[in-house]
Amino acid sequence: MVKISKKRAFKFLAIFILIWVSIASLITAYFFYEKNRFFPFWVHEEVSIDKLGIPVITYHSVLDPDEFEGHLKYLVKNNYKTLSCDEFYEKLTSKNKNAKIQKSIVLTFDDGLYSLWGIVYPLLKKYNLKGVAFIPIYNISNEDIVHSNLEDVWAKKISLRRIVEKEYKTKLTWKEIEIMNKTNIIDFQSHSVDHKLIYTVPKGSFATDEQKKLILYNFIYSKKIIEEHLPGKVVQHFCYPNYKGSKDSVELAKNIYLTNFWGYIGKKSNYIGDDPYYIDRIEEGHNVILSLPGKERLTFIKRIILTFMEFLFPVKKIQIFLRSLIPTKNTR
Ligand SMILES: [Zn+2]
Repeated sequence: MVKISKKRAFKFLAIFILIWVSIASLITAYFFYEKNRFFPFWVHEEVSIDKLGIPVITYHSVLDPDEFEGHLKYLVKNNYKTLSCDEFYEKLTSKNKNAKIQKSIVLTFDDGLYSLWGIVYPLLKKYNLKGVAFIPIYNISNEDIVHSNLEDVWAKKISLRRIVEKEYKTKLTWKEIEIMNKTNIIDFQSHSVDHKLIYTVPKGSFATDEQKKLILYNFIYSKKIIEEHLPGKVVQHFCYPNYKGSKDSVELAKNIYLTNFWGYIGKKSNYIGDDPYYIDRIEEGHNVILSLPGKERLTFIKRIILTFMEFLFPVKKIQIFLRSLIPTKNTR
């Protein structure tokens, strides 16, 4: 049997830790480098509520109810108001340049995933907040089923683990969408028919008639299907799949929709008077919401440290413990 000396074992461990810390540092450095996407400066501590505009936040799968609830608690504690698309449009196009938009925010959830029903909806309901769901209609199931969700976990009928596991095996159903729509907690809008990348054209060229037809079909047919399922609902807002559209697609959208939502398109935030066909959204991740102006917000440096810790200790429980050690700051 080969015997490893203590000295060698130590050496081995030291090298392993060194490599691991280097990898985590490199990943954090990359995110820092890409800071416009991941750490946009308007959410940093120096940005005051007066300059915040109306941030639009993008979520996809929400699989950690505690983390998501933390975001909602932060918004409630700091008196943020969550808007539907129509309310957002109204504020954005207000004739009064000084209209009150402070502490308005739009929470958007893309792709019509099960977690919208499983986790997001019950928590928004609990805190009396609202969200916007951009759904590609082909992702939605016609099955006559209402799945269990977080409310059943609270009632001790099912484990949280079973709810989280469903995300990868379960489709959101129209039945669930009907329920969420009736409560006005979720505002359903279009995210195309089948989430295909058809809205772009290479730089300097124009969409062909054939391409335009396909774009129009996606715009019109997705709107029609959602409105058929949700009587009384008028779908007036469109979100580009993969955050990618073009001038041509915007021109075509103008006859059908009031707004077009994108991903991060280089704007600081959304302000009164902005073009409603170029709505900037920012991906939640790395504590964007917790960095918004308010009591106990996270500072930029702390977000970097937390991101580093996320990579260094990929175990949620350790992260939560370490996070509790970092003091927060009261700023406005
Ligand atoms: Zn999408």
